[in-house]
Amino acid sequence: MNPMSTEAVDVGKRRRIKGIARDTLDFILNAARSSHPDEFAGLLEAEDGIIVNVILLPGTISSNRGARIHLDMMPLHLSSVGSVHSHPTPNNRPSQADLAFFSKRGDYHIIVGYPYDDEAWKCYNTQGERQALPVLDVDLDPDTEGDEIW
Ligand code: ZN
Repeated sequence: MNPMSTEAVDVGKRRRIKGIARDTLDFILNAARSSHPDEFAGLLEAEDGIIVNVILLPGTISSNRGARIHLDMMPLHLSSVGSVHSHPTPNNRPSQADLAFFSKRGDYHIIVGYPYDDEAWKCYNTQGERQALPVLDVDLDPDTEGDEIW
């Protein structure tokens, strides 16, 4: 039996995700709404198999040409399980650029399309295939919710 690796960079890909916290999803939908018509982008962080946090990267450029995540800006110890970004149109399917990014980090990638409601988001895996992401009602410590930097 091999000892489990505790390297955060390994855990991101192997960890099984049970779902996303309702509060975290609400944060994402609100962030998408307030960014409109610009896109917003961030990375998803999980605790105990539940996505509970959105990390907004300092190098993220948001414009109506599309959000770009600067992976160079990401601290290596961060164990993100995937990403989230918004599209200013109802089309929430991944673009070619999205697919190229998905393959680089994590296995859970949320795209929120306009009008950024409960029906407007989808989750994709590394290959850009739809995958289920249950919304879970869990109590979050207010301090662990996504930082609101705007
Ligand atoms: Zn996209």
